[in-house]
Amino acid sequence: MTVQQKIIVAEGPAPSAATAAFLAADHRLFIGGRWVEAAEGGQLDVENPATGEIVARVPAGTAADIDAAVAAARQAFDHGPWSRMTPSERGRLVWKLADLLETHADEFAEIDSIDNGKPVTDARAVDVAFSCELLRYMAGWSTKIHGQTIALSSSAPFHAYTLREPVGVVGQIVPWNFPLMMAVWKVAPALAAGCTIVLKPAEQTPLSALRLAQLVEEAGFPAGVFNVVTGLGETAGAALAAHPDVDKVAFTGSTEVGKLILGAARGNLKKVSLELGGKSPVIVFPDADLDVALAGAASAIFYNMGQCCTAGSRLYVHRKVYDRLMAGMAAEAARLPVGVGLDPATRIGPLVSAEQLARVSGYIEAGQREGATVLTGGRRIGDRGFFLEPTVLTGTTPGMSVVREEIFGPVVCAMPFDDDDIDAIVAEANSSIYGLAASLYTRDLSKAHTVARRLKAGTIGVNVHHVVDVALPFGGFKQSGWGREMGYAAIELYTETKSIAVAL
Ligand code: ADP
Repeated sequence: MTVQQKIIVAEGPAPSAATAAFLAADHRLFIGGRWVEAAEGGQLDVENPATGEIVARVPAGTAADIDAAVAAARQAFDHGPWSRMTPSERGRLVWKLADLLETHADEFAEIDSIDNGKPVTDARAVDVAFSCELLRYMAGWSTKIHGQTIALSSSAPFHAYTLREPVGVVGQIVPWNFPLMMAVWKVAPALAAGCTIVLKPAEQTPLSALRLAQLVEEAGFPAGVFNVVTGLGETAGAALAAHPDVDKVAFTGSTEVGKLILGAARGNLKKVSLELGGKSPVIVFPDADLDVALAGAASAIFYNMGQCCTAGSRLYVHRKVYDRLMAGMAAEAARLPVGVGLDPATRIGPLVSAEQLARVSGYIEAGQREGATVLTGGRRIGDRGFFLEPTVLTGTTPGMSVVREEIFGPVVCAMPFDDDDIDAIVAEANSSIYGLAASLYTRDLSKAHTVARRLKAGTIGVNVHHVVDVALPFGGFKQSGWGREMGYAAIELYTETKSIAVAL
């Protein structure tokens, strides 16, 4: 099946004056409330993936900068005004940060669109809007973190209770797929809990974290509470994960790097939370509302160019509806306008980098070598920027690399199933080292709940795929991670329980 991809723009509109001025500025690290150059003076190019052009340069922070940032965060945690603030004062600052972010929402959407390639429309409606919502939600928790009084089982008279205290200095390492939002997922609960932070954004997309630091400064957070060190994963990131004075490391990224973080954290047994890869199944039963299933299956893999840890990359469709759904997927892939992220009509932007384009294309080739068929897509679009056609592979079988491994691109493996016995399809869906998300489409209430219970994944959508809410715990089973973000679960990630017993 050949499809004619709809390409809408070659150049795209210019960014706003505010965004252009930010891009052109001299970017520095934010450490201890001051803007400083990297200790070793190195810089990293920041590329616009729609054009391949360099749009900014940021400091290449190294271990020395991480040392300075951790020292600033330690000072702020142990001795700064932050440590004496009331929960209410803390909550107000977090809320103020949300207000400032909202004021500059369009600018942040443009920055992430230029830096990552994503459609500015999505960046504004999802990345920035969710970040504001999450900051406000977590601001509310800061005044509601409390322990319990405990009736002890021993016969001696005791008054015993627990306190929940901030875990301390936290290192936060985030990926490039939702640059601002991934940072705020980590920063918002940590601030609400009273921790201090060293944030290391991804080297591909460091800009919105630096702009966020400007707003942190403007909001009036005490110096050292929030520090940003841009730099490479293997230098700045590794130093942060291994640092002996960091109490906790929170990481979102690949499972492979998650295991390195775990190894690095071993030295001082710092607390670790990990949100890692996925290979999420989407199951369409024959009684599903097919319009709903099609919309869900398409957005599951094409949203954010498939660069989502929850991407629905294994599509299991009952044979009775397989041909109709496949025709719909191909039509949807062709219908989505491809273009520069800054054009508001764009639905599919470029992949984040040449490296990512090569990696995803390599998977498509490997799939074909192993016997898969390209139903639609599969090719690079144009020779400027890193655009790839939304791709549907058929004829895929469980042993193929494209079915087993996380591709992190707009590539779905579609597989029909015949069996009306749910055991077989549940076993197939669960046959993955990952367990981040899953979705199923059916009108049968009993089947929906039964299958949802049996799928081994942290988030299950029924008649919907991407389900993320500030209040709903989010995280992975199996090799998709440790811990849950969002909701009160995120506050638990950034606090320790202390038990106190008083002999009466
Ligand atoms: P991807 O493979 O999609 O780029 P990664 O898991 O490599 O995702 O990157 C996620 C984040 O982890 C980025 O901020 C990156 O700089 C960082 N990172 C990469 N390697 C390491 C490492 N060895 N130690 C700590 N952080 C790392």
